[in-house]
Amino acid sequence: MGQQLLIYNTLSRQKELFRPINEGHVGMYVCGPTVYGDGHLGHARPAITFDVVFRYLQHIGYKVRYVRNITDVGHLEHDADEGEDKIAKKARLEQLEPMEVAQYYTNRYHSAMDRLNVLPPSIEPHASGHIMEQIALVQSILDAGLAYVSNGSVYFDVRKYQEDTHKYGQLSGRVIDEMLATTRELDGQEEKRFPSDFALWKKASPEHIMRWPSPWSDGFPGWHAECTAMGAKYLGSPFDIHGGGMDLVFPHHESEIAQCVASTGHAPCRYWMHNNMITINGQKMGKSLGNFITLDEFFTGSHKLLDQPYSPMTIRFFILQAHYRSTVDFSNEALQAAEKGCSKLMEAYKALGRIAPTQNAESGIQNYRQLCYDAMNDDFATPTVISHLFEAAKTINGAADGKVKLSQADIDELKGVFDTFLFDILGMRDEASEGGNGQLEDGLMQIILDIRAAAKANKDWTTSDKIRDSLNALGVTVKDGKDGATWQI
Ligand SMILES: [Zn+2]
Repeated sequence: MGQQLLIYNTLSRQKELFRPINEGHVGMYVCGPTVYGDGHLGHARPAITFDVVFRYLQHIGYKVRYVRNITDVGHLEHDADEGEDKIAKKARLEQLEPMEVAQYYTNRYHSAMDRLNVLPPSIEPHASGHIMEQIALVQSILDAGLAYVSNGSVYFDVRKYQEDTHKYGQLSGRVIDEMLATTRELDGQEEKRFPSDFALWKKASPEHIMRWPSPWSDGFPGWHAECTAMGAKYLGSPFDIHGGGMDLVFPHHESEIAQCVASTGHAPCRYWMHNNMITINGQKMGKSLGNFITLDEFFTGSHKLLDQPYSPMTIRFFILQAHYRSTVDFSNEALQAAEKGCSKLMEAYKALGRIAPTQNAESGIQNYRQLCYDAMNDDFATPTVISHLFEAAKTINGAADGKVKLSQADIDELKGVFDTFLFDILGMRDEASEGGNGQLEDGLMQIILDIRAAAKANKDWTTSDKIRDSLNALGVTVKDGKDGATWQI
């Protein structure tokens, strides 16, 4: 299966057969959050997209090292080279240490990701913990003659890079003229030789709290330096996959390529993957537009645009119902449809346990497993996987109603397909039967019911009644049937 995996590469603008640099191993780097505010949908989408990529690569047998960074320094307002550091600004406004702000929002981000069932990455490096590596990167670009020092700051020399026949703009498809037109007029621009030059190191102004010593000035690294330095440190150079949101293609990823080529002579990675953006009721999401909804607000339903709370799995399912390269538009109607669809699949999975298998039933079910693998191998087509699961759910419901005959092997296969694709690869959880940890609850209840069954077999009615009554007192009803006891909350 692994050999046929196709990945759309933003750089070549086509699907390519995935071949890792080191057989059996995959190195993947994804740009993580800038931790100065609560997580929102713009954070959920790349996290969920690359969580599924991470899960699937592991499922098909790769040993994956997944690095997702935490930007806690250097990301300035307006995504430009001027303005205040986002975290330092928040710290000033809230009268906190900058690292207190970063820690607080990092913790909040982790807890939201946990609720969305996003697996933690293998390594989560912080930009502030890798200043030495970034200084070394800047020095090597200076040594290559592709950067210059200006008033204590260091800038990447885009024109020089172009003259050396490298293409700044290859990833985004932008041309220099166009970049010039979109470069904002901000103070500090006079330090640059050319408007498209970007900062590798910034000299800190006297009031700037976050600063480190360097050969050029006391200051801080430019935003793009951290991913180049940390990706190479933990994954080697080049590595396999670099991911992130489409909004990062320019200038962030374009500049990452330039920095890596300038310092090493080769590109940072083989495959560039970008998830598309999320709109809300057809509009771009933005703080100034009043449609900026945090993940917590979705979970609690506390934003004025929301008709009701939406559970983490509803959000996850909704995101996976669209292909990661398509835009997603959030609306109450769409979320409610996702909520229904999700519970339909969960109910079908549970109904599998109620189907009486038919002896000698000739298998009429489709090869859902293969269909789902084909979809995943086609650039992670999660909407297609979900549509196959809906088809499978129809078969299951038909069998539960006695309209379709299934053998025990069919039932086992359907259960396997759901376990593999819905739960392991798409990373969905059955929230309805959870109340915390559903699997643990099921396991514990099975142990208790086994002890009770043993007591009954020994005619120890005192113990068996005590277990039933104690469970009753906790709100758990035990029903005795001919195939043993079942339970319900
Ligand atoms: Zn990055």
